[in-house]
Amino acid sequence: MSEDKLSKIVSLCKRRGFIFGGSQLYGGLSSIWDYGPLGVLLKKRIKDIWWQEYVEKREDIVGLDSAIIMHENVFLASGHLSGFCDELVDCPQCKKRFRPDKAEKIDEKLYRCPYCGIEVDITLYKPRKFNLMLKTNLSAVETTPLWGYLRPETAQGIFINFLNVINTTHKKLPFGIAQIGKAFRNEVTAGNFIFRMKEFEQMEIEYFVKEEEADKFFEEWVKERFNFYIEKMGLKKENLRLREHTKEELAHYAKRCVDIEYNFPFGWSELEGIANRTNFDLSSHSKVSKKDLSYFDEEKKERIIPFVIEPSAGVDRTFFAVICDAYDEEIVKGRLRVVLRLKPELAPYKVAIFPLLKSDNQLVELAKKIFYDIKDKISSIYDDTANIGKLYRRQDEVGTPFCVTVDPQTLMDKKVTIRDRDTMKQERVSIDRVFEFIKERLNEECFIS
Ligand code: ATP
Repeated sequence: MSEDKLSKIVSLCKRRGFIFGGSQLYGGLSSIWDYGPLGVLLKKRIKDIWWQEYVEKREDIVGLDSAIIMHENVFLASGHLSGFCDELVDCPQCKKRFRPDKAEKIDEKLYRCPYCGIEVDITLYKPRKFNLMLKTNLSAVETTPLWGYLRPETAQGIFINFLNVINTTHKKLPFGIAQIGKAFRNEVTAGNFIFRMKEFEQMEIEYFVKEEEADKFFEEWVKERFNFYIEKMGLKKENLRLREHTKEELAHYAKRCVDIEYNFPFGWSELEGIANRTNFDLSSHSKVSKKDLSYFDEEKKERIIPFVIEPSAGVDRTFFAVICDAYDEEIVKGRLRVVLRLKPELAPYKVAIFPLLKSDNQLVELAKKIFYDIKDKISSIYDDTANIGKLYRRQDEVGTPFCVTVDPQTLMDKKVTIRDRDTMKQERVSIDRVFEFIKERLNEECFIS
């Protein structure tokens, strides 16, 4: 994959309404993005599938939706206030700040500024620590601020609700709490589209276990999550790999961490981290809050602080990987065809319906009727705003598995043309069999339940 592919994907996402620049109307904000009409559909599918897999289908995991703004002491206990920092260098030429660990390294001292390209000697321009958390004033009076923090990970909301969940659900170990939600980090990076954002979304599970079982569950979660990307998100296995963190890389609280990496157009990068966070968080919140967050182990007849295995995935990075993996180009009859070969379960629309001629009222009415008949059962779109060639191209580019066209012949034989996105094969199908035809070819998860 290449940088060229990256710019094609960015352009497709903007052109087709997947992603727009954040605050674009006012010049934009760096590393902040908005999801457009097609983007929200795909993103929602990703989150729904994750939620179904881990909350709805399993009895050992429950869901949570904790607040984004949290008490300062949460982050005192978690260590974020003191330790959640990036080392940044001030570029002497363009004055922008960059992370040397993410910039091009020329030699031990020299790093290339990603913004203006000059070589910066980091022994002269020494890296300085900046906390990544975003804070906000919760007081109505500006002179006496009450600081709250936008969470930098959804995980802390889970730890501080551990007792609430145990007391209300009576769950026994091993069990998990899952949460999908926004997280905020004042990241400083250039480029790479939605890979590193200041406002992003995470899908996290804190899976509480006994200490002696932590290694076993860690292995299980790594396998489970790796397969999820292949089986549920449709990513190619060769574009995924596991990377074990070295001792030096491990966060102070973690015993082990394995990243699932994806081969993005700019190289292998983290999609998800799976960590054994030990009992650090619960112990620390116990100490700072002075509340007992232990669990009574009925077998051992003693109170323990459970260990936790955390599969922590990024919604936006999954979205990005899904688009990169599905993006394909081919030459058809001498012309370039761009097609998103999305897994149908993820496709924003499963069916698009067009009249061949928008000037023919009979065709328009019939096409709309077919659309209204199926739109409650399957995500569909009606479109007559371009010629048929362009309409097909649009739907190929957004990954719609089937296009249904109503043409003058339809008025005589009551049949429409159904075109398959991947093979481009066209079949004539009776109008009253359109839904059935699609139902036979897509699995249950593609339909509105
Ligand atoms: P990186 O090393 O890339 O900064 P991280 O190790 O800090 O990532 P974690 O704290 O482990 O990331 O967060 C878990 C997941 O949340 C990541 O694997 C990623 O998918 C997602 N994530 C983290 N930071 C961002 C961000 N700034 N923008 C988009 N997604 C993010």
